[in-house]
Amino acid sequence: MFEGFFSGGIIKRALQKGLIEINVRNLRDFTTDKHRQVDDRPYGGEEGMVFKPEPIFAAVESVRQSDKTPVYLLSPQGRRFDARLAEEMARHPQIVLVCGRYEGVDERVAEHLATDEISIGDYVLTGGELAAMVVVDAVARFVPRVVGKEESVRHDSFFEGLLDYPQYTRPREFRGMKVPQVLFSGDHKKIEAWRRKKALEKTRGRRPDLLAGRQSSPEEKHLLDQIDNERNKR
Ligand code: SAM
Repeated sequence: MFEGFFSGGIIKRALQKGLIEINVRNLRDFTTDKHRQVDDRPYGGEEGMVFKPEPIFAAVESVRQSDKTPVYLLSPQGRRFDARLAEEMARHPQIVLVCGRYEGVDERVAEHLATDEISIGDYVLTGGELAAMVVVDAVARFVPRVVGKEESVRHDSFFEGLLDYPQYTRPREFRGMKVPQVLFSGDHKKIEAWRRKKALEKTRGRRPDLLAGRQSSPEEKHLLDQIDNERNKR
């Protein structure tokens, strides 16, 4: 599953340049029995299988470079993964991600091995691998020089607690749909102000929860009042 992810785009380049290193481990390589068994039936009698703790503890202990290396168990029951957490993770020299399957993972992994449980959203995937790739991709973007221009990370959605402003490229007009005039003005201050307002407008309309806990500057408050007045008039 991971090979496709490693073989294209920004992740491939970052790996080639040595900006990041990704090591995948197969839990079966950390078993000691003939059948290389990684899962077993749940105690208490239920359907499905649960990952045994021993191979997971052994695998994590074999890759963890220090006691300070955080270990994240991917789980729909975990703390919601977001840009802030991605940025925080990127500051560690190493992170370990544990992927579950089937009914999940023996709870002792969450209680005694994992630093935190991480969920990528309120839905259930068949396994943690896709979730791990989502996390790695988002974290890698915060590693210096992985994304070409650092600027583009700074302007992306969520970085400053807002959604990104709208982007346009050529042609100037397509089927009667025009690119906003201000973008041709050459006036960088004006363009910056327009982008700021559009980012606030999008965030107000689509994700008001992002604005709820935000410390807005007086200028931003003024812009938000303006946006609300314009919306009320519509
Ligand atoms: N029985 C578990 C529950 O209801 O919480 C679901 C297990 S799920 C079928 C199998 C594995 O997929 C999990 O152990 C986890 O590693 C991964 N997974 C599923 N949904 C996820 C999500 N939203 N975020 C992160 N990992 C997820």
